[in-house]
Amino acid sequence: MRAAAKDKRKRLRQFRELARQRQNGLCFYCRQPMAKAGSAAALAAPMSVETIEHRRPKCRGGTDSAANLVLTCRACNTRKASMNETAFLAQLSERDHI
Ligand SMILES: [Zn+2]
Repeated sequence: MRAAAKDKRKRLRQFRELARQRQNGLCFYCRQPMAKAGSAAALAAPMSVETIEHRRPKCRGGTDSAANLVLTCRACNTRKASMNETAFLAQLSERDHI
């Protein structure tokens, strides 16, 4: 494996651990508990699996810096897709999702 790719994986792992603590294991958007990928909870509720989310999507100029990354459940990540964060949060509260 190339050193750069290895570094990126290591950084992402560290980011996940820090973000999990910072967010108390809750989705950044809907505040529901997230399941760790590969766990029994994840198998039972695949849409609750923790994913890394770009607050500003890469297609809108977002970067991989820690400031732009949060952990969200797969459901939120999928729904948000390439929407910007403000639009997505507005939609979440409109639908009174959760
Ligand atoms: Zn969520």
